[in-house]
Parts: sequence; structure tokens; C-alpha cells
Amino acid sequence: MEARSPVRYANATLPDGSRRHIDVEGGRIVGLPIADDDKPAKHEVVDLSGMLVLPALVDGHIHLDKTLLGLPWVPNQARGGQVADRIEAERHVRAARTLPESETGANLVRQIIANGTLHMRSHVDIDNQLGLKNLHEVLKIRERFRNLVTIQIVAFPQSGIARSPGTAELLEEAIAQGADLVGGLDPVGIDGDLEGHLAVIFSIAERRGGGVDLHLHDTGDSGIAQLLAIAERTKAAGLQGQVAVSHAFALGSVPTDRAARAADRLADAGVAIMSHGPGAAPMPPLKLLREHGVTVFGGSDNIRDAWSPFGNGDMLERAMLIAYRANFRHDEDLALAFDMVTTAAAGVLGIPCYGLALGASADFVTVNATSLPEAVASRPMRRLVVKAGRVIARDGVLLP
Ligand SMILES: [Zn+2]
Repeated sequence: MEARSPVRYANATLPDGSRRHIDVEGGRIVGLPIADDDKPAKHEVVDLSGMLVLPALVDGHIHLDKTLLGLPWVPNQARGGQVADRIEAERHVRAARTLPESETGANLVRQIIANGTLHMRSHVDIDNQLGLKNLHEVLKIRERFRNLVTIQIVAFPQSGIARSPGTAELLEEAIAQGADLVGGLDPVGIDGDLEGHLAVIFSIAERRGGGVDLHLHDTGDSGIAQLLAIAERTKAAGLQGQVAVSHAFALGSVPTDRAARAADRLADAGVAIMSHGPGAAPMPPLKLLREHGVTVFGGSDNIRDAWSPFGNGDMLERAMLIAYRANFRHDEDLALAFDMVTTAAAGVLGIPCYGLALGASADFVTVNATSLPEAVASRPMRRLVVKAGRVIARDGVLLP
């Protein structure tokens, strides 16, 4: 199918339940007539026969350089359950790799696209042992798939900043070489230096004009204090709307009134919160955060790597896992989980022309489900993945 010739995807069921044709021209949605309009189409027609159409899925947090997808099974080697134990275990796994990160990462990207995700934010490890090697590997992946998928890169200090001398300079160089945002990692839990860690990150973001996305696993009073400090720094740097905190387990580890007060400060500073529906760690109170005006969005986090044996990059399944972990049962709650892996994540990533609307990029997914909540609950196979009006994957397989 030619990308630029007009196409009608006929008889689509949209998430609002309406039955419409989706007219595509020049890679964009140019018409959404109701489906009983049977004026003869002047275009090529693909009949969807009532299939549910969803906007392209968005993965707000992934690690393309960490995955071992395509290698023989690698058992998890962490000797303890702390973040520091896993950082150490990853060094051993990395040293034993027989495929470069650009190949294993590409395996994951192909799987992700076939599952309907067309935009993602990948954190990429940077420390004084790795230097910018993993960045260069992920930049290769970004170039290779640039016509199919958006890959936003976070320069991520996986070994800390104070703990890994030279990393601050490497983070800045990473931005100069193509990373889009500066990352961070447990300023207190890993570096033991809240203000020092944040000063490095925010000064790079301010000078280079990019956003910030920090991993924060620290819980309790310490975690809340770090969230409030991030909110303060965000406002002082004028970076409202460009800062996210990934995990933020602390918000799920304190009494509700305390979490609510922190939520007000995060909302005021325009700091978004990413959750992947953690298995064992405290879950941020998603509905409370939303009620207080905080943007919450979703991501896969680790997939088949030294940190986790699980994951597959399927964001419909991720919406289900988030909903399951949050004890969501009602349709409006399942819709919230879905929003976290579509519209909310696209907003955080700043994806232009997103959604199923006139003038938007014709990027969408079709599934056999009668409604959006059913799609989240049953996470059916993606029948078609459409990018700029062109079918790029069918029945879970990326087309050549
Ligand atoms: Zn992560």
C-alpha cells in the first residue's frame, strides 16, 4: 500500500463507540464520516468490519540498551533486592554479552512496533565505565527505525553522579550528541546528595534546553522530600511540563493526606509521574494524583534484562498490569490506565498531531474487541498497526 495515496479504513469502531470511516491522505486523517455514509469512496478501501481502532500506543519508559532479547536466556544474577545489587549484577551480565545493544535493542523495537507502539522514551545508561557507548548503540537503533517509530532518549546516570566521577560531564556531552533529556537516579538512595545530584541535572537541562526524567525508587519521608525538591527545582528552572519522575514509589508509601499534599506541589510544578505497575514496590495512588492535577503516564521499564526477566513491550498489556496493580475494575478506571499508555504519555513526550482526530497523523492500531475497556482487560493481538496511513504490521508481525 502506498503511503501517500488516499485510503479509507472503513467501518471502524472508535473508542467512543461510534462507527466511522477513517479517511487518510498524505499520512494524515482527513475525514471521519459516520459509517452509514455510503457515498462511493474515491480511495482504496480497507474494510475493518467493525474492529476497534485505538490510537498508536506510547511507551513512556523503556531501556533499549539493557534488553537481552535475542540472546539465550540469561538468569537474573542480583545477589540482593536493592537497586545497588542490581546495578552490580548488570555489570557482569553486560561483560558477558555476545550481541551488541544495537541488535538486542532492535529486536525489542521490532516487537514493540508489532504490538502497536509507535512512540517511546528510552533511558540509556551512562557512567564512567561505559562512557557514551550505549548512547551510540541506541542512536543507531533510532536511525534504523526513524521512519516507523519515535525514540526519545534520556541520558541516564545508572551508577549515580557523585558515585561515578566524570558522569556529570558525560551527561552533558550525551545531550550534545543527540540525547533529548537528562536523567537522574535516587539522589539520596544512590548518591547520598540530594541537592548536588539535582543541581547537576537541572543545570544541564537549563543550559541545553531539554527536559528531565528521573528514576526515584526511594520511599517514605526521604522519597517525598526528594519529590518536593524536584518540584522546587522545576519551577526555579522554568521547566514546568518538561519534568517527569519515574516510579515515585514514595507516593504510595505514605498516608493518603501526605501523598495528596505532595501531589499538589507536583501539579503546581508541572511534574509528571510515570508508573509501570510495579510488582512488589509501593504503587503511586494514580487516581488521587489525577484528581490533584498531576499527569500520570505509563511505561514498560525493564524488559528481559539484568533487572527483570519479565516484560514484552506490549503497552495494552502494560495498561492491564497497571490496572491490575491499582485494583482498577470499573470501565472509567480501565480507560484511565489506557490513557496512561496513549494520550497522557504522548503529551509528556510532546508528540505532535497525536490521536484519532482530523488532521492527526494516521497512526493507529486495530483489535478484535467491542470496547476500549474490553481491549485493556483482554489485550487482544494487534490485527493491524498503521503508521502514517500505511499498514506496517499485521497479526503481531512487523512487515518487511
Ligand atoms: Zn527504568
